[in-house]
Amino acid sequence: MNRIFNFSAGPCTLPLSCIEEAASEFVDYQGLGMSLIEMSHRTKPYDDVHMAAIADMREILEIPENFKILFLGGGATLQFTMIPMNILNGGTADYTATGTWANKAIADAKKFGTINIAFDGKEDKFMTLPNPADVKVSEGSKYLHITSNETIGGIQWQDFPEVDAPIVCDMSSDIMSRRIDWSKFGVVYCGAQKNLGPAGCAVVIIRDDILAETSTDLTAYLDYKIHASKDSMYNTPPVFPIYMLGKTLKWVKAQGGIDAMAKLADARAELIYGAIDNSNGFYNCPVQESARSKMNIVFRLPSEELEAQFVAEAAALGMSGLKGHRSVGGCRASVYNAMPVEGAKALADFMAEFAAKNS
Ligand SMILES: *Cc1c(COP(=O)(O)O)cnc(C)c1O
Repeated sequence: MNRIFNFSAGPCTLPLSCIEEAASEFVDYQGLGMSLIEMSHRTKPYDDVHMAAIADMREILEIPENFKILFLGGGATLQFTMIPMNILNGGTADYTATGTWANKAIADAKKFGTINIAFDGKEDKFMTLPNPADVKVSEGSKYLHITSNETIGGIQWQDFPEVDAPIVCDMSSDIMSRRIDWSKFGVVYCGAQKNLGPAGCAVVIIRDDILAETSTDLTAYLDYKIHASKDSMYNTPPVFPIYMLGKTLKWVKAQGGIDAMAKLADARAELIYGAIDNSNGFYNCPVQESARSKMNIVFRLPSEELEAQFVAEAAALGMSGLKGHRSVGGCRASVYNAMPVEGAKALADFMAEFAAKNS
């Protein structure tokens, strides 16, 4: 077997034990003579998996009872539409423009109401975040939308504003890596494929009072209330991603839960930012120091030629996925929950060697 350290931004590495377990039970799930993804989603074996995933999600993230947890198709991208369609509905909302993903959410929301930009990182090339205390919402704002971690830009909110509107937060690339203060949030959503499981499922966690006021003239799939009333089984749910997500959640619990995940994230980030900061400027992290992401660590080398060489040499040593997003260039190490600290250590060691050889 040859498992490499996979620094891909998403889909991304998953805990090895989860993949092995799925492989071992895939063909004949619990002696039933078929795989879980071949059976009706209305059967008890699937129902058990589905409901356990919801319960484990609630337990690990300490999600209060007045929030519903939904599993939906369409990725986080469909939520860029469903959120304004359900909640904005012709009204006014505030968005923070912090990078590629926030800007996509803004573009979609503009079709459904008035969007105020509460913070615009454009002048700083989306490499900064505001002081949360400086973020204000406009009068009558239905919500403040925040992208907690910009996966491409490599910036992450360390703390969230306290405003007179619920925060609706895209946590696609850092959910399950730290605690969530639910008193600030009305909706938290994410695509599963960065910190939770494979692609194909979005998780939407929505507060009951917001759910109760969502638009009433939507077609079935686009209506949060329909999904909530059926525990996300109004139609066929994305059974395979939910099955794998369930395994990841059990793995998180076995590692010690959310605080253990936060500690591991700190350890990985310290190693790699350490390699950058101790390189006498060979590596340069272009983002504001207080906004550095613990999930997606971006850095530049002295030239694009050296960057290409770095990525190629790392790949030859079993460290893949280090090329930055095509829109920004440079290098990016995505270090989600399932990346072992040894992977971050291997990368940091390689970075030091490469810098010594090529400075
Ligand atoms: C990946 C990503 C998305 C898009 O997710 P899809 O599931 O591909 O639609 C949205 N927001 C953020 C922050 C992401 O990292």
